[in-house]
Amino acid sequence: MRTPIIAGNWKMHKTVGEAVEVARKLDEQVADSPVEVVICAPFTSLSALSALGLKKVKLGAQNMYYADQGAFTGEISPAMLEDVGCEYVILGHSERREIFQESDELINKKVLKALETGLKPILCVGETLAQRKAEQTTDVVVAQTTQGLAGVSAKQIAHVVIAYEPIWAIGTGETSDGKDANQVITSIRQTLAELYGPELAEQVRIQYGGSVKPSNIAEFMEQTEIDGALVGGASLKVEDFVGIIRY
Ligand code: PEP
Repeated sequence: MRTPIIAGNWKMHKTVGEAVEVARKLDEQVADSPVEVVICAPFTSLSALSALGLKKVKLGAQNMYYADQGAFTGEISPAMLEDVGCEYVILGHSERREIFQESDELINKKVLKALETGLKPILCVGETLAQRKAEQTTDVVVAQTTQGLAGVSAKQIAHVVIAYEPIWAIGTGETSDGKDANQVITSIRQTLAELYGPELAEQVRIQYGGSVKPSNIAEFMEQTEIDGALVGGASLKVEDFVGIIRY
């Protein structure tokens, strides 16, 4: 049985004070949830959130670099994330791929380094609208999954979470149909089975992401292959995020 994981991606939102207020309320309201709950907050808030000693809600970051330390102005190392209480790190988000030109090769280096350091990567994959229209969805997500996981060992794979996020559904209000998302996620799991064998593939959690809200979460969570959600906009308000976690 895979434990569902609902992660909030706060992107470039919230001051430290705002982050603390939301995280405190969220932690109280989801204390008894059987679901794993993660907040991926901006770097600036992680230390303060860690100091709250949250009981239920875990912390994640939204990016990192793959070196231990050095002359990499503006970057954050995995050890720094561990130091401020992070258990997870989002890698390969489509905004990083598109706006900051991150390649599968770079993302793979980050995935390997995160795992080596003891952080659990949430590896994002997903197709553009043009790729979907050209019926390339499966090819794109299978390639991103394979390249993102190159060199990840059988021992490490259960610590990886994969988020299938069709790019056209992120922040647009458009969502994939639950059954359609389940089908794409099935092809990701088949890829994992080819790489690691069916038993290990069954252990990896695969989330759906893209305009998830309280009113549509059930449609995704009732699918056999979907193990949770990566939530952007609707994770910013306690009420909405709690509504999703209590699907
Ligand atoms: C995201 O940024 O990962 C995301 C899914 O955003 P939204 O829920 O706002 O579409």
